[in-house]
Amino acid sequence: MPTKHEKEIFRRTAELVCSLCRHQGNEGTPAELHHIRRTGKRSNAPVIPLCPYHHRGSNTSIHGMGRKRFEREYAITEEQLLVQTEELLNVGA
Ligand SMILES: [Zn+2]
Ligand SMILES: [Zn+2]
Repeated sequence: MPTKHEKEIFRRTAELVCSLCRHQGNEGTPAELHHIRRTGKRSNAPVIPLCPYHHRGSNTSIHGMGRKRFEREYAITEEQLLVQTEELLNVGA
């Protein structure tokens, strides 16, 4: 189970705009939560905001293309998007 603190971070992350759109200079795209897969429990995985286009689009998204291709295509890694998200939330790593 996520802790209260983690739930608070999820809630605040869900209010952010898409982190990749933001990286590309397009502010204001509503986003959904993407869980970053690491070892350990999925419910405790960190989350980043991604719009449906960058989250689930067939040839434009992290799930559609796979993480490796996504990172190559957009020249940014999932972890870098997480750092950017944490800076925005001001929670630190
Ligand atoms: Zn986006
Ligand atoms: Zn996802």
